[in-house]
Amino acid sequence: MEFSQSHRVEMISMAVALVAIVGGTAYYYYVTKKPKGCLDPENFKEFKLVKRTQLSHNVATFRFDLPTPKSVLGLPIGQHISCRGKDSLGEEVVKPYTPTTLDTDVGYFELVVKMYPQGRMSHHFREIREGDYMAVKGPKGRFKYQPNQVRALGMIAGGTGITPMFQEELDAFAIKFPNQFKVYYVLNQPPEIWDGGVGFVTKEMIQTDFPAPASDIKILRCGPPPMNKAMAANLEALGYSPQMQFQF
Ligand SMILES: Cc1cc2nc3c(=O)[nH]c(=O)nc-3n(C[C@H](O)[C@H](O)[C@H](O)COP(=O)(O)OP(=O)(O)OC[C@H]3O[C@@H](n4cnc5c(N)ncnc54)[C@H](O)[C@@H]3O)c2cc1C
Repeated sequence: MEFSQSHRVEMISMAVALVAIVGGTAYYYYVTKKPKGCLDPENFKEFKLVKRTQLSHNVATFRFDLPTPKSVLGLPIGQHISCRGKDSLGEEVVKPYTPTTLDTDVGYFELVVKMYPQGRMSHHFREIREGDYMAVKGPKGRFKYQPNQVRALGMIAGGTGITPMFQEELDAFAIKFPNQFKVYYVLNQPPEIWDGGVGFVTKEMIQTDFPAPASDIKILRCGPPPMNKAMAANLEALGYSPQMQFQF
């Protein structure tokens, strides 16, 4: 099944996704030998914005060219980049973003960004136009994915927190690997016809869909701060130790 654009918009703007992955094999072909990447962890490098696609009134995809059509970004799964821009007062601002593309996407990378009315970096993203350059540094992040590092992964993603998990093209994976990958969407403002969850992610939803607490599982969380806090409480109450959890 194609992962349609309207589906993306729905997810980015208001969805929370619960994803359960059993075994590491669904990832294996992303983690084979990779060419050298274009990022520098110490210095910002400039990348040209070649396409901006508005997905909803405040969410857009930004596609940046890499130096050559055969270049890859070189960002390990689970890591992110720092983007530098200017806020509405002209002051420098640096914020983390997770590309929705992988190193199998050659010659470019893409960001999906939600722009907040008063947000500092949001201002920069609202203002940049095709042909402009963005300063980027990376890779960044404490989470390093290795195939089979755990028996099962659970992921709770809210709002733009979906981006670290989005790299997987969720629905396509659920169909391709029905015994290994499950996705469950939760909307707080569902459309009339909706067979997913409604409201906030509950302990019961986690219990139903996620691997039970164990030393060889990991629950990944990424979302707005209040959601991260609520999910940490839910997970703790269900017996997931801090070692079994990771917050992006
Ligand atoms: C690991 C990681 C990866 C991420 N990946 C992505 C991604 O791929 N895509 C994405 O969109 N985001 C991502 N984020 C979030 C991103 O880093 C920024 O936090 C987000 O873009 C908001 O930044 P900002 O500077 O625009 O907002 P901020 O200036 O930090 O403002 C944040 C909030 O406060 C409000 N606010 C700010 N100033 C005022 C004011 N004066 N009065 C009232 N309200 C105000 C804003 O409207 C906004 O709601 C990621 C975060 C992390 C930690």
